[in-house]
Amino acid sequence: AKEKGRNQFCEFTPPMEQEAQNRRLLLRDLQQGLDGQEFELHYQPIVEIASGRIVKAEALIRWNQPLRGVVSPGEFIALAEESGLIVPLGDWVFQQAAQQVAQWRTMLAPAFELSVNVSPVQLHASEQSVQDWIARLDALQLPGSALVVEITERVLLEAGKEADAKLQALQKANIQLALDDFGTGYSSLSYLKRFDIDYIKIDRSFVSHLTRGSDDTVLCQAIIVMAHQLGIHVVAEGVETQEQHEILHEAGCDYGQGYWYCRPVPASEFTERLRESLAG
Ligand code: C2E
Ligand code: CA
Ligand code: CA
Ligand code: CA
Repeated sequence: AKEKGRNQFCEFTPPMEQEAQNRRLLLRDLQQGLDGQEFELHYQPIVEIASGRIVKAEALIRWNQPLRGVVSPGEFIALAEESGLIVPLGDWVFQQAAQQVAQWRTMLAPAFELSVNVSPVQLHASEQSVQDWIARLDALQLPGSALVVEITERVLLEAGKEADAKLQALQKANIQLALDDFGTGYSSLSYLKRFDIDYIKIDRSFVSHLTRGSDDTVLCQAIIVMAHQLGIHVVAEGVETQEQHEILHEAGCDYGQGYWYCRPVPASEFTERLRESLAG
Protein backbone atom coordinates (compact mmCIF):
# COMPACT_ATOMS: atom_id res chain seq x y z
CA ALA A 1 0.00 0.00 0.00
CA LYS A 2 2.89 2.25 0.82
CA GLU A 3 4.42 1.59 -2.60
CA LYS A 4 1.22 2.45 -4.40
CA GLY A 5 0.86 5.68 -2.47
CA ARG A 6 4.29 6.74 -3.52
CA ASN A 7 3.60 6.02 -7.17
CA GLN A 8 0.44 8.03 -7.02
CA PHE A 9 2.37 10.87 -5.50
CA CYS A 10 4.89 10.70 -8.34
CA GLU A 11 2.19 10.97 -11.01
CA PHE A 12 0.64 13.92 -9.30
CA THR A 13 1.83 17.27 -10.64
CA PRO A 14 2.52 19.66 -7.78
CA PRO A 15 0.21 22.70 -7.84
CA MET A 16 2.99 25.18 -8.53
CA GLU A 17 4.25 23.25 -11.51
CA GLN A 18 0.70 22.86 -12.74
CA GLU A 19 0.23 26.58 -12.54
CA ALA A 20 3.46 27.28 -14.40
CA GLN A 21 2.35 24.84 -17.08
CA ASN A 22 -1.06 26.54 -17.37
CA ARG A 23 0.63 29.89 -17.78
CA ARG A 24 2.91 28.55 -20.53
CA LEU A 25 -0.11 27.22 -22.40
CA LEU A 26 -2.05 30.44 -21.94
CA LEU A 27 0.92 32.45 -23.17
CA ARG A 28 1.28 30.22 -26.24
CA ASP A 29 -2.43 30.64 -27.01
CA LEU A 30 -2.22 34.38 -26.42
CA GLN A 31 0.59 34.68 -28.93
CA GLN A 32 -1.36 32.61 -31.46
CA GLY A 33 -4.49 34.64 -30.80
CA LEU A 34 -2.63 37.80 -31.69
CA ASP A 35 -1.46 36.28 -34.98
CA GLY A 36 -4.83 34.68 -35.67
CA GLN A 37 -7.00 37.76 -35.06
CA GLU A 38 -8.94 36.25 -32.19
CA PHE A 39 -9.31 39.57 -30.38
CA GLU A 40 -12.26 41.89 -30.59
CA LEU A 41 -13.26 45.13 -28.93
CA HIS A 42 -16.56 45.52 -27.17
CA TYR A 43 -17.91 48.96 -26.34
CA GLN A 44 -19.66 50.11 -23.20
CA PRO A 45 -21.68 53.33 -23.38
CA ILE A 46 -20.75 56.27 -21.17
CA VAL A 47 -23.90 58.27 -20.56
CA GLU A 48 -24.29 61.96 -19.83
CA ILE A 49 -26.14 61.72 -16.52
CA ALA A 50 -28.19 64.92 -16.88
CA SER A 51 -29.59 64.03 -20.33
CA GLY A 52 -29.35 60.24 -20.33
CA ARG A 53 -27.66 60.33 -23.75
CA ILE A 54 -24.75 58.19 -24.88
CA VAL A 55 -21.88 60.57 -25.52
CA LYS A 56 -18.81 58.38 -25.14
CA ALA A 57 -17.78 54.76 -24.80
CA GLU A 58 -15.02 52.63 -23.33
CA ALA A 59 -13.36 50.00 -25.52
CA LEU A 60 -12.92 46.69 -23.68
CA ILE A 61 -10.94 43.82 -25.14
CA ARG A 62 -12.44 40.36 -25.64
CA TRP A 63 -10.58 37.21 -26.63
CA ASN A 64 -12.49 34.58 -28.58
CA GLN A 65 -10.25 31.55 -28.19
CA PRO A 66 -11.36 28.61 -30.37
CA LEU A 67 -11.03 26.02 -27.57
CA ARG A 68 -11.31 28.10 -24.42
CA GLY A 69 -14.27 30.17 -25.56
CA VAL A 70 -14.50 33.83 -24.55
CA VAL A 71 -11.67 34.64 -22.15
CA SER A 72 -12.14 37.80 -20.08
CA PRO A 73 -9.35 40.37 -19.80
CA GLY A 74 -9.08 39.65 -16.08
CA GLU A 75 -7.68 36.25 -17.05
CA PHE A 76 -5.02 37.34 -19.53
CA ILE A 77 -4.06 41.02 -19.18
CA ALA A 78 -1.67 40.36 -16.28
CA LEU A 79 0.12 37.63 -18.25
CA ALA A 80 0.22 39.83 -21.33
CA GLU A 81 1.85 42.51 -19.19
CA GLU A 82 4.43 40.18 -17.64
CA SER A 83 5.37 38.72 -21.02
CA GLY A 84 5.48 42.01 -22.89
CA LEU A 85 2.73 40.87 -25.26
CA ILE A 86 0.66 43.77 -23.99
CA VAL A 87 2.68 46.06 -26.25
CA PRO A 88 1.56 44.58 -29.62
CA LEU A 89 -1.85 43.80 -28.13
CA GLY A 90 -2.26 47.36 -26.85
CA ASP A 91 -1.13 48.75 -30.20
CA TRP A 92 -3.83 46.69 -31.88
CA VAL A 93 -6.43 48.00 -29.38
CA PHE A 94 -5.47 51.60 -30.06
CA GLN A 95 -5.49 51.21 -33.85
CA GLN A 96 -8.82 49.41 -33.79
CA ALA A 97 -10.38 51.97 -31.45
CA ALA A 98 -9.14 54.89 -33.55
CA GLN A 99 -10.67 53.41 -36.68
CA GLN A 100 -13.97 52.77 -34.89
CA VAL A 101 -14.31 56.22 -33.38
CA ALA A 102 -13.48 57.78 -36.76
CA GLN A 103 -16.37 55.83 -38.26
CA TRP A 104 -18.86 56.81 -35.54
CA ARG A 105 -17.81 60.44 -35.80
CA THR A 106 -18.32 60.54 -39.57
CA MET A 107 -21.49 58.49 -39.53
CA LEU A 108 -23.38 59.57 -36.41
CA ALA A 109 -21.84 61.77 -33.75
CA PRO A 110 -19.13 64.31 -34.70
CA ALA A 111 -18.05 64.92 -31.10
CA PHE A 112 -17.98 61.30 -30.00
CA GLU A 113 -15.11 60.19 -27.71
CA LEU A 114 -13.74 56.71 -27.15
CA SER A 115 -11.68 55.56 -24.16
CA VAL A 116 -8.97 52.92 -24.35
CA ASN A 117 -7.19 51.27 -21.44
CA VAL A 118 -3.43 51.62 -21.47
CA SER A 119 -1.32 49.50 -19.15
CA PRO A 120 1.64 50.91 -17.20
CA VAL A 121 3.84 48.41 -19.04
CA GLN A 122 2.95 50.06 -22.35
CA LEU A 123 4.04 53.43 -21.02
CA HIS A 124 7.34 52.05 -19.82
CA ALA A 125 8.03 50.25 -23.09
CA SER A 126 9.44 51.72 -26.28
CA GLU A 127 8.72 55.18 -27.59
CA GLN A 128 7.54 53.67 -30.86
CA SER A 129 4.00 52.81 -29.77
CA VAL A 130 2.92 56.32 -28.92
CA GLN A 131 4.43 57.64 -32.15
CA ASP A 132 2.59 54.97 -34.15
CA TRP A 133 -0.69 55.89 -32.45
CA ILE A 134 -0.27 59.54 -33.31
CA ALA A 135 0.62 58.66 -36.90
CA ARG A 136 -2.55 56.62 -37.08
CA LEU A 137 -4.64 59.59 -35.96
CA ASP A 138 -3.09 61.69 -38.71
CA ALA A 139 -3.76 58.99 -41.30
CA LEU A 140 -7.41 58.88 -40.24
CA GLN A 141 -7.56 62.69 -40.04
CA LEU A 142 -8.86 62.21 -36.55
CA PRO A 143 -8.21 64.84 -33.85
CA GLY A 144 -6.49 63.47 -30.76
CA SER A 145 -9.39 64.69 -28.64
CA ALA A 146 -11.52 61.85 -30.06
CA LEU A 147 -9.55 59.46 -27.87
CA VAL A 148 -9.22 59.20 -24.13
CA VAL A 149 -6.40 57.13 -22.67
CA GLU A 150 -7.34 55.52 -19.37
CA ILE A 151 -4.46 55.03 -16.96
CA THR A 152 -4.41 54.04 -13.32
CA GLU A 153 -3.02 55.93 -10.37
CA ARG A 154 -0.14 53.45 -10.36
CA VAL A 155 1.15 54.97 -13.61
CA LEU A 156 1.35 58.44 -12.11
CA LEU A 157 2.86 57.22 -8.89
CA GLU A 158 5.59 55.32 -10.69
CA ALA A 159 5.93 57.75 -13.57
CA GLY A 160 9.60 57.97 -14.28
CA LYS A 161 11.08 60.07 -17.04
CA GLU A 162 9.94 57.68 -19.77
CA ALA A 163 6.29 57.36 -18.82
CA ASP A 164 6.24 61.08 -18.19
CA ALA A 165 7.53 61.79 -21.70
CA LYS A 166 4.92 59.51 -23.23
CA LEU A 167 2.08 61.10 -21.31
CA GLN A 168 3.33 64.46 -22.53
CA ALA A 169 3.48 63.21 -26.13
CA LEU A 170 -0.12 62.03 -25.85
CA GLN A 171 -1.21 65.35 -24.43
CA LYS A 172 0.67 67.25 -27.10
CA ALA A 173 -1.40 65.32 -29.66
CA ASN A 174 -4.52 66.46 -27.74
CA ILE A 175 -5.31 62.93 -26.61
CA GLN A 176 -7.20 63.18 -23.33
CA LEU A 177 -6.29 61.41 -20.10
CA ALA A 178 -8.61 59.68 -17.66
CA LEU A 179 -7.59 58.40 -14.26
CA ASP A 180 -9.19 54.95 -13.96
CA ASP A 181 -10.30 53.18 -10.76
CA PHE A 182 -10.05 56.48 -8.87
CA GLY A 183 -9.92 56.09 -5.11
CA THR A 184 -8.42 52.61 -5.01
CA GLY A 185 -4.80 53.69 -5.28
CA TYR A 186 -2.83 55.97 -3.08
CA SER A 187 -1.80 58.74 -5.41
CA SER A 188 -1.99 62.18 -3.95
CA LEU A 189 -4.51 64.62 -5.32
CA SER A 190 -1.68 66.86 -6.48
CA TYR A 191 -1.11 64.38 -9.33
CA LEU A 192 -4.39 65.46 -10.85
CA LYS A 193 -3.01 68.92 -11.48
CA ARG A 194 0.53 67.94 -12.24
CA PHE A 195 -0.48 65.56 -15.04
CA ASP A 196 -3.34 67.65 -16.41
CA ILE A 197 -5.94 64.88 -16.08
CA ASP A 198 -9.17 65.45 -18.06
CA TYR A 199 -11.40 62.84 -16.42
CA ILE A 200 -11.48 60.81 -13.27
CA LYS A 201 -13.42 57.58 -13.12
CA ILE A 202 -14.75 56.87 -9.63
CA ASP A 203 -14.11 53.21 -8.96
CA ARG A 204 -17.00 50.77 -8.88
CA SER A 205 -16.24 49.83 -5.26
CA PHE A 206 -17.49 53.29 -4.17
CA VAL A 207 -20.37 53.47 -6.59
CA SER A 208 -21.73 50.05 -5.65
CA HIS A 209 -22.21 51.17 -2.04
CA LEU A 210 -24.07 54.35 -2.89
CA THR A 211 -27.24 54.49 -0.83
CA ARG A 212 -28.76 57.60 0.67
CA GLY A 213 -26.77 58.88 3.62
CA SER A 214 -23.96 56.32 3.25
CA ASP A 215 -20.30 57.22 3.80
CA ASP A 216 -19.57 56.39 0.17
CA THR A 217 -22.17 58.93 -0.92
CA VAL A 218 -20.33 61.60 1.05
CA LEU A 219 -17.04 60.46 -0.51
CA CYS A 220 -18.44 60.59 -4.03
CA GLN A 221 -19.90 64.04 -3.45
CA ALA A 222 -16.56 65.28 -2.18
CA ILE A 223 -14.65 63.79 -5.12
CA ILE A 224 -17.05 65.41 -7.59
CA VAL A 225 -16.82 68.86 -5.98
CA MET A 226 -13.05 68.69 -5.82
CA ALA A 227 -12.69 67.46 -9.41
CA HIS A 228 -14.95 70.19 -10.74
CA GLN A 229 -12.97 72.84 -8.91
CA LEU A 230 -9.88 71.55 -10.71
CA GLY A 231 -11.72 71.60 -14.05
CA ILE A 232 -11.86 67.80 -14.26
CA HIS A 233 -14.94 65.87 -15.43
CA VAL A 234 -16.19 62.87 -13.47
CA VAL A 235 -17.35 59.46 -14.70
CA ALA A 236 -18.93 57.05 -12.19
CA GLU A 237 -18.11 53.42 -12.99
CA GLY A 238 -20.23 50.37 -12.27
CA VAL A 239 -23.63 52.07 -11.95
CA GLU A 240 -26.04 49.17 -11.46
CA THR A 241 -29.17 50.65 -9.93
CA GLN A 242 -31.55 53.55 -10.43
CA GLU A 243 -30.84 54.72 -6.88
CA GLN A 244 -27.11 54.97 -7.63
CA HIS A 245 -27.90 56.89 -10.81
CA GLU A 246 -30.13 59.33 -8.92
CA ILE A 247 -27.64 59.93 -6.13
CA LEU A 248 -24.94 60.63 -8.73
CA HIS A 249 -27.27 62.97 -10.60
CA GLU A 250 -28.01 64.93 -7.43
CA ALA A 251 -24.28 65.06 -6.63
CA GLY A 252 -23.65 66.67 -10.03
CA CYS A 253 -21.68 63.76 -11.48
CA ASP A 254 -21.12 64.34 -15.22
CA TYR A 255 -21.13 60.83 -16.67
CA GLY A 256 -22.16 57.32 -15.73
CA GLN A 257 -21.11 53.90 -16.96
CA GLY A 258 -22.49 50.57 -15.81
CA TYR A 259 -24.87 47.70 -16.35
CA TRP A 260 -27.81 49.91 -15.41
CA TYR A 261 -27.27 51.86 -18.65
CA CYS A 262 -25.82 49.10 -20.79
CA ARG A 263 -23.33 46.22 -20.77
CA PRO A 264 -20.32 46.23 -23.09
CA VAL A 265 -21.55 45.20 -26.58
CA PRO A 266 -20.02 44.43 -30.00
CA ALA A 267 -19.50 47.34 -32.42
CA SER A 268 -22.58 46.65 -34.54
CA GLU A 269 -24.87 46.60 -31.52
CA PHE A 270 -23.23 49.72 -30.15
CA THR A 271 -23.91 51.52 -33.42
CA GLU A 272 -27.62 50.73 -33.03
CA ARG A 273 -27.66 51.93 -29.42
CA LEU A 274 -25.92 55.14 -30.38
CA ARG A 275 -28.37 55.72 -33.22
CA GLU A 276 -31.35 55.22 -30.89
CA SER A 277 -29.84 57.44 -28.22
CA LEU A 278 -29.29 60.26 -30.73
CA ALA A 279 -32.81 59.92 -32.12
CA GLY A 280 -34.55 59.67 -28.74
P1 C2E B 1 -11.78 48.59 -16.18
O1 C2E B 1 -10.95 49.44 -17.07
O2 C2E B 1 -12.06 49.13 -14.81
O3 C2E B 1 -13.13 48.33 -17.00
C1 C2E B 1 -14.40 48.23 -16.41
C2 C2E B 1 -14.79 46.81 -16.15
O4 C2E B 1 -15.99 46.78 -15.39
C3 C2E B 1 -15.10 46.00 -17.42
O5 C2E B 1 -14.72 44.65 -17.18
C4 C2E B 1 -16.61 46.14 -17.52
O6 C2E B 1 -17.21 45.11 -18.29
C5 C2E B 1 -16.99 46.05 -16.07
N1 C2E B 1 -18.27 46.70 -15.77
C6 C2E B 1 -18.86 47.74 -16.41
N2 C2E B 1 -20.02 48.10 -15.81
C7 C2E B 1 -20.18 47.27 -14.75
C8 C2E B 1 -21.20 47.13 -13.74
O7 C2E B 1 -22.18 47.86 -13.70
N3 C2E B 1 -21.00 46.16 -12.81
C9 C2E B 1 -19.91 45.34 -12.83
N4 C2E B 1 -19.82 44.40 -11.90
N5 C2E B 1 -18.94 45.44 -13.78
C10 C2E B 1 -19.07 46.39 -14.71
P2 C2E B 1 -13.87 43.80 -18.24
O8 C2E B 1 -14.28 44.16 -19.64
O9 C2E B 1 -13.91 42.38 -17.82
O10 C2E B 1 -12.41 44.38 -18.06
C11 C2E B 1 -11.70 44.19 -16.85
C12 C2E B 1 -10.43 44.99 -16.84
O11 C2E B 1 -9.52 44.52 -17.83
C13 C2E B 1 -10.64 46.46 -17.16
O12 C2E B 1 -11.10 47.14 -16.00
C14 C2E B 1 -9.24 46.86 -17.58
O13 C2E B 1 -8.43 47.10 -16.45
C15 C2E B 1 -8.75 45.61 -18.28
N6 C2E B 1 -8.90 45.77 -19.74
C16 C2E B 1 -9.99 45.59 -20.53
N7 C2E B 1 -9.71 45.86 -21.82
C17 C2E B 1 -8.40 46.24 -21.85
C18 C2E B 1 -7.51 46.66 -22.90
O14 C2E B 1 -7.86 46.79 -24.09
N8 C2E B 1 -6.21 46.96 -22.53
C19 C2E B 1 -5.79 46.88 -21.23
N9 C2E B 1 -4.50 47.19 -20.93
N10 C2E B 1 -6.61 46.51 -20.22
C20 C2E B 1 -7.91 46.19 -20.53
CA1 CA C 1 -10.99 51.47 -17.77
CA1 CA D 1 -5.69 67.74 -21.64
CA1 CA E 1 -12.14 51.12 -13.97
